[in-house]
Amino acid sequence: MADPIQHRAAAELAAGYKLSHRVAELGAMAVFAVLISVFLSRVVRAGFERPVHAVLGLMIGYLLADFVSGLVHWFCDTWGSPEWFVVGPVFIRTFREHHVDPLSITRHDFVETNGANCMSVLVALVPAMWFQVDPSVSWRVVFAAVLAGFILCIPCTSQAHKWAHMEPHLVPTIPRLMQRAGLLLSRQHHDQHHVAPFVKNYCITTGLCDHLLERVGFFPTLERWITRITGALPREDDIGARAATALMADSDRDEPNATHSLAQLPPSR
Ligand SMILES: [Zn+2]
Ligand SMILES: [Zn+2]
Repeated sequence: MADPIQHRAAAELAAGYKLSHRVAELGAMAVFAVLISVFLSRVVRAGFERPVHAVLGLMIGYLLADFVSGLVHWFCDTWGSPEWFVVGPVFIRTFREHHVDPLSITRHDFVETNGANCMSVLVALVPAMWFQVDPSVSWRVVFAAVLAGFILCIPCTSQAHKWAHMEPHLVPTIPRLMQRAGLLLSRQHHDQHHVAPFVKNYCITTGLCDHLLERVGFFPTLERWITRITGALPREDDIGARAATALMADSDRDEPNATHSLAQLPPSR
């Protein structure tokens, strides 16, 4: 039986990766490399004086990056369209293409995989350059390390996501060991996201935050609030209005991850 979910064509979404995006990504990667080198040198110097504060901050930044990766992924899966100004073609389009053709990410080169994240993390990295990393003030060392952990992990998110889709024997040894230890997004964990209608396990750096977010129903609750305030229907552009309405009906019955109504729909064309 055909699927009631109706996506856009993969080729149409893939064609949205223009030369202008690539040039912008290359420029962002160059700026990122210069700025992060300067910022990290300051954090490392302070970290030698206060190693416990630095490690604590790095761990918080590492978890924060996973949470933000889930938040951005959820937003791009759920709201808006690839036609939105700038955000649409650069971010939303890639997540929509990924649902239709999950292995396309494994064919992306280094720039296409990581460029957009290097660009987006500049929002945190550029202001961080003005932050005074003073080793004599403990909170400043912790905060600088949080920033460093976050800013280092965000550009690795798509790479971690790509590794989670690759055959295990093709993943380099260190990330493969980190996947096994649960320190990097694993294939088993992320596979649960790729079950239609794509409403579980949004976090794509380590996946560690998913457990808590799923338990408290974080994203379904957020969706209901946004729909009540704006009237927008979650996932309408991604899976079609019929399927999105059916999912919303399940969510309104406090069954956020249920798909009863969706299963009762007749197949799309
Ligand atoms: Zn997704
Ligand atoms: Zn994926």
